[in-house]
Amino acid sequence: MILKENKIQTKSYFIETYGCQMNVYDSELVASFLEKSGYQSTSDYNSADVIFLNTCSIRDNAENTVHRKLENLAYLKKQNPKMMIGVLGCMAQNLKNELMESKPYVDVILGPDSYRKIPEILESRNKTNNHFVDTKLSKFEIYEDLFPTRKSGVNAWVSIMRGCDKFCTFCIVPFTRGRERSRTIDSIVKEVEACIEQGFIEITLLGQNVNSFRTPDGEFPELLDAVSKVKGLKRLRYTSPHPRDIDDHLLNVMKKNKNICNHIHLPLQAGSDRILKRMNRTYSKKEFLDLVIKIKKYLPDCSITTDIIVGFPGETEEEFSDTLDVAEKVIFDNSFMFKYSPRPGTKAAGYTDQVDEEVKQNRLERYIALQKILTLKNNKLKIGKTFEVLVEKESKKSANQWAGRLDGNMWVVFDKTNEKIKDLVKVRILDTKGITLFGERV
Ligand code: SF4
Repeated sequence: MILKENKIQTKSYFIETYGCQMNVYDSELVASFLEKSGYQSTSDYNSADVIFLNTCSIRDNAENTVHRKLENLAYLKKQNPKMMIGVLGCMAQNLKNELMESKPYVDVILGPDSYRKIPEILESRNKTNNHFVDTKLSKFEIYEDLFPTRKSGVNAWVSIMRGCDKFCTFCIVPFTRGRERSRTIDSIVKEVEACIEQGFIEITLLGQNVNSFRTPDGEFPELLDAVSKVKGLKRLRYTSPHPRDIDDHLLNVMKKNKNICNHIHLPLQAGSDRILKRMNRTYSKKEFLDLVIKIKKYLPDCSITTDIIVGFPGETEEEFSDTLDVAEKVIFDNSFMFKYSPRPGTKAAGYTDQVDEEVKQNRLERYIALQKILTLKNNKLKIGKTFEVLVEKESKKSANQWAGRLDGNMWVVFDKTNEKIKDLVKVRILDTKGITLFGERV
C-alpha cells in the first residue's frame, strides 16, 4: 500500500486467464501471492498497477489471442510506464525468447513453476523497473502449502498434481509444464475441507493427467476415496484422466461412493490404431472400447465425454472413419472437438504428412454433426425420468428459471419454485434441445 494525500491507496492487479482449468487454478494461486503482497483485484485493467496474462500454448489460436491482447496493452503501457505487464503460464515457458524480442514492454515472464517469485518481483519493482524472466521447470514445485484465492461459488477446482510424463506426440504440455508431481493426500484433503468451510459444495480434482496421481500414501483411487469422505461435500468430479490409468480399483471407488459423479471424461483423440500409435496414446481402438464396457459394468449410467483431434498428420479418410465408428459405438454424451494444430517442438509437428486444412475442416464438421446426433440420442433417453440436480445459477434465458447439472454433467433448465442455489433437488426431464435438458421439479 502507498500513502498519498493522507489516503491509503491500495495497488491493484488484473489477471486474464486463457486455456484450461489448470490455468484458472494457477491464476487463483497467483492472486493469492498478489493479495499477500497487499494488492487488490480490479475488473478495470486500464487502471491496474499489475496486469498478468496467464497464457496457453495448446493451440496456435490461443497464442494468437494473447499476442493480440499484448499489442493492445502496449498502448496502455505507453500512457502509464509504471504499469507492470507480465506473461505467465505455458506461452511464457514456450516462447520467452520471442516475447522478449518482439514485446520489450513486457516486464515479467514467468513459467508455471515460478509463481513463488511474485512477491519478490513486486518488492523489487518498487525500487527498479528491471525486467524479470524465470521459466525454469521444477521437479518438485506443487505449491503444496498454498491455498488459492477463490471467488465464491458452487464448484471449487483443486489441483492434485502437475505436469505430464505421457508425451503424446501432438502435445506441448510435457514441455511447458514439466514432469509429473503429486501433492500429498493430506494437504489435498485439508484444502477440500477449507473449500467446504468457505461454502463450496462441489469439488473437481484437477490434473494434466489426474489419474497418474501417485504418492507414498496412495494413488488416485485412495485419494478419491479420502476426498469423498470429507463432510459436507455433495459432489466430487475429476478431470482429465488418461484411459490407460483407469482400472478396477478406481471404478470400484466410484461405484462405492455416492457423491462421486457418474461421469468420466475419457479422451479418445482418434479411433485408428495406426494414428493412436503415432500419437503415442498407448491404447488401441479395441482396448478403448473394452474399457468403456468395463466402465459401464461398474457404473451402468455413467456418462462418458471425450476429446477428439481430427486431421492428425497422415490421417486417411478410412482412419478418420474409425474415430466416427468409436464415437457411434460408445455414444459419447459430448465431445471437445479440435482440428489438429502443429505445436512447434512436439514430435508430430515434424511429421511431413500434414493434412490439408480443408480436409481437417470437413472432418471436424462431420464429427460435430455426428456428436449432435449422439448427444440428442442420449438426452432423449432421459425424457420422463427423474434425476438429482444441483442448482447452480439462474438460467441465462429467464430470471424465472434455474440452471443446474445432473451428476452426468448435463445442464438442465427448470422453473423456479422454492429452491435456492446449492440445493440438490429432484427434476423430471420433459424435453431436450441442443445440449440442454428441460425439466420440472418433482
Ligand atoms: S496425456 Fe498426452 S495430451 Fe494429456 S497432457 Fe499428457 S501429453 Fe498432453
